Amino acid sequence: SSRALESGDDLALQRLHALFGFRAFRGVQRNVIDRVLAGQSTLAVMPTGAGKSLTYQLPATMLDGTCIVISPLIALMHDQLRSAEANGIRAATLTSVDENRAETVARLRAGDLDLLYVAPERASQSHFRELLSQCRISLFAIDEAHCVSEWGHDFRPDYRLLRPLMDQFPQLPRLALTATADAHTRADILTQLGIPEEGMIVAGFDRPNIRYAIGTRDGLTQQLRRLLAANPGPGIVYAQTRAATERLAEALSDGKREVRAYHAGLAPDVRAANQSAFVGSEDMVMCATVAFGMGIDKPDVRFVAHAGLPKSIEGYYQETGRAGRDGDPASAHLFWGADDFARARMRVQEVDETRQQGERTRLSALGALVETAGCRRAILLRHFGETPPETCGNCDNCLEPPKALDATVTAQKYLSAVARTRQMFGAGYVESILTGQSSERASSQGHDTLSVFGIVDGEEAALLKPVQRALLVRGALLPTEHGGLMLGPEARGYLKGELPLDLVIPPKRERERGR
Ligand code: ADP
Ligand code: ZN
Repeated sequence: SSRALESGDDLALQRLHALFGFRAFRGVQRNVIDRVLAGQSTLAVMPTGAGKSLTYQLPATMLDGTCIVISPLIALMHDQLRSAEANGIRAATLTSVDENRAETVARLRAGDLDLLYVAPERASQSHFRELLSQCRISLFAIDEAHCVSEWGHDFRPDYRLLRPLMDQFPQLPRLALTATADAHTRADILTQLGIPEEGMIVAGFDRPNIRYAIGTRDGLTQQLRRLLAANPGPGIVYAQTRAATERLAEALSDGKREVRAYHAGLAPDVRAANQSAFVGSEDMVMCATVAFGMGIDKPDVRFVAHAGLPKSIEGYYQETGRAGRDGDPASAHLFWGADDFARARMRVQEVDETRQQGERTRLSALGALVETAGCRRAILLRHFGETPPETCGNCDNCLEPPKALDATVTAQKYLSAVARTRQMFGAGYVESILTGQSSERASSQGHDTLSVFGIVDGEEAALLKPVQRALLVRGALLPTEHGGLMLGPEARGYLKGELPLDLVIPPKRERERGR
């Protein structure tokens, strides 16, 4: 997909070599750059690591005027600035923390900048708009463009302010960039940013060198210790809270391999020190919140582990995509629990009504990924609009196919027990009723005379926990505020025998054992 260097009149290729030292464009980079140089607005959907920054940095050096880059995070902007400057590109950031703002504005006015990085909220300021109209601007580049969509996983209202600004410069091309957009979000980005449909360029999303493995949490610390033992290279363990990153870092430190924590609550110098130590290390493990990894360039990360359910498939793909950017074998491990889904469903109820459906769709896509007996990669790639083969040969399920077991009847028994006990009790109690364990509580409530009392025994009893988990994942059960279980909107379908419940029984394997 590259053009040969001998085409001596190929200016873009010459620039690529002169500025970045690369000999060829990668994947769709060339298509994107050609459109931008021709002044055509474009949405480039490219996975993490595919080289999105180059698709605006290179044209910025070739077009007359300054390219305005919209970026959501100041830290990210400063990383980008450093790398642009290292490549000899004239760049600056204009943010609240920059003390050289006056100088930057002077450089912009003098036409002395190829790139100017700004945050979206600045775009709405009328004096910024006026400033731009007095300068020579070549291009608008909108990084993390999914932030403009309510369908996206990271909506930022400020991104909506970009359209009015850009509409004041109708002759200028717009280049929207994202790694993480499903079909719905993509269409929305086009509309919100005023980019024509034919301007969308989607790169292949597959990361064939990453092996995916997904399993339930069952003694997390032990699971992670085994994972670390089997995976010697640099790795990232993502945890959901700041406290959890520190707890895990402590639990995983064994005195030999360095394990550190990284989250936004650490002092800036500690954070910077941990990050640069990680970048330079060959075996460090970083326990971090998902902010870690954004904008750092470390191609040899060998594994990424999630200690809990990610926020969305997009998030999962972006985070796991930080492994194996060098193309060598790498692995991604996810440990999930039914409580992750329970919590996520509670959160859905708290968001704005208009966004609830989107959140539910996101959650059920995650449910399908973690609970499939089929190929993980196929599910991921289909999510991004591709039509992959049924099997990949490089995920846990392809390597060791799990068994599927029809547990519809057990699911019905479970849901009836929840209904008959009036949707007030937790899993432990529901199980005790189903397996017929007499107790004072059961008799005082009269539950030991219910038709569901003791209707599950022997082997079926072993299915109760996985069935409960599956029902929670599917939204047939919902957590109550007091730690109990109640019927969810999907329960009816199971109770009426319209929906089957196939349980995935993983083979006995050390899932976390990676390659
Ligand atoms: P993204 O923003 O899509 O995640 P980056 O722009 O950070 O990706 O680029 C990822 C890495 O790929 C960087 O180290 C970059 O220098 C490198 N890269 C980009 N384009 C090329 C290319 N054409 N040839 C070789 N390396 C490239
Ligand atoms: Zn597979």
